[in-house]
Amino acid sequence: MKIRVLTLFPAMFGCLGESIIGRAIKNGILDFEAVDIRAYSKDKHGKCDDTPYGGGAGMIMTAQPIFDCINAVDPDHEYLRIYMSPSGERLSDGIARELGGFDKILILCGHYEGVDQRVIDLCIDREISVGDYVLSGGELAAMVVVDAAARFVDGVLGCAESHETDSFGDGLLEYPQYTRPPEFMGMKVPEVLLSGNHKEIDKFRRECSLELTAARRADLLEAKRGSGDGD
Ligand code: SAH
Repeated sequence: MKIRVLTLFPAMFGCLGESIIGRAIKNGILDFEAVDIRAYSKDKHGKCDDTPYGGGAGMIMTAQPIFDCINAVDPDHEYLRIYMSPSGERLSDGIARELGGFDKILILCGHYEGVDQRVIDLCIDREISVGDYVLSGGELAAMVVVDAAARFVDGVLGCAESHETDSFGDGLLEYPQYTRPPEFMGMKVPEVLLSGNHKEIDKFRRECSLELTAARRADLLEAKRGSGDGD
């Protein structure tokens, strides 16, 4: 999967070089690049923002550098072009899974007060939000999208790191997990997990998942029932 993130702050994406996503980049499963929008500014000082028409606080990213950057990276519109925005559709497990199925994704990160609407209208296919709060820039949001989507790309997770048993994989929150030692600060690992009886273990985990989901996210259970996949 080819991912191009367009940003004024490419250095922020250094942390994608770590851990599971970093391994996938090194293995060539993910081809990732953070592209500096400023390099495309025609302003002699490399300026990429200006004050909003109509007044108001803050600065708006100007259309020209973004437009030229998008067209340099994706001249034939082969990429799904996403703009990270609080006004977009809210990221979910389903959307992450869907994005993981694309071969080429371009993500535009806004900054300051946002981006001139015309470049969104001209170039963007889809707007995605990471939640009902405002970040100071789209970079962290883009990293969330890249990480969540990449988990669904074949080969990114090792077989020991299946997403099917993760929270939301089957419409439920994940059961609690334990590892060695069997007792810590007087607290014991539930007996059944040490029993080696996989049928009982699966049953126990399923019950824990259902209980946890009912307690914390009744909306997920409702959705599961609504989809005809109720327990
Ligand atoms: N004035 C805008 C917020 C701008 S925040 C508004 O009120 O909607 C600056 C940039 O951060 C945005 O352009 C967007 O790219 C990013 N951003 C902020 N919050 C976000 C969120 N919840 N999800 C996705 N991107 C977000």
